[in-house]
Amino acid sequence: QINVQLPPIRTLRQSRMEWVVARADDILNWGRKGSVWPLTFGLACCALEMMHYAGPRYDMDRFGMVFRGTPRQTDVIIVAGTVTNKMAPILRKTYDMMPEPRWVVSMGSCANGGGYYHYTYATVRGCDRIIPVDIYVPGCPPTAEALLYGMLQLQKKVKRMRVVQAWYRH
Ligand code: SF4
Repeated sequence: QINVQLPPIRTLRQSRMEWVVARADDILNWGRKGSVWPLTFGLACCALEMMHYAGPRYDMDRFGMVFRGTPRQTDVIIVAGTVTNKMAPILRKTYDMMPEPRWVVSMGSCANGGGYYHYTYATVRGCDRIIPVDIYVPGCPPTAEALLYGMLQLQKKVKRMRVVQAWYRH
């Protein structure tokens, strides 16, 4: 004789609701992942590789990444180059103008930690002192492929976000 114990109805209902909520997150993230629009913040030589990444050879558009000219329409800011003390408040202001949810990609040694200019009085030792960074792309400069790889990693991060679930369990 096999004893099958069914879970109480309330638990079943709850688990179904959890399932619906989880799927809602998947759909939301699928849409977000496919339309990660970056804002350029080219500050120095790294910006040239960023332009290359937008060109026909690497064709970032095929991943749903289309550069926008205003922070109001963007999801991610790519900080490409040396952040100087003078540029730091502008970087912060630009980031603040972006709508939520927003992400940051730090491109190159200078943006990651000061790079060559680590010891100069005019340089910020990493843009993460100004804004929170999600993805660091190493190199001096990182190649366009490296930036593309970083952006694909960001897409994975976006895909794992739990927005509806967080709201539902709150
Ligand atoms: Fe230039 Fe290298 Fe700094 Fe990029 S990391 S801005 S290539 S010095």
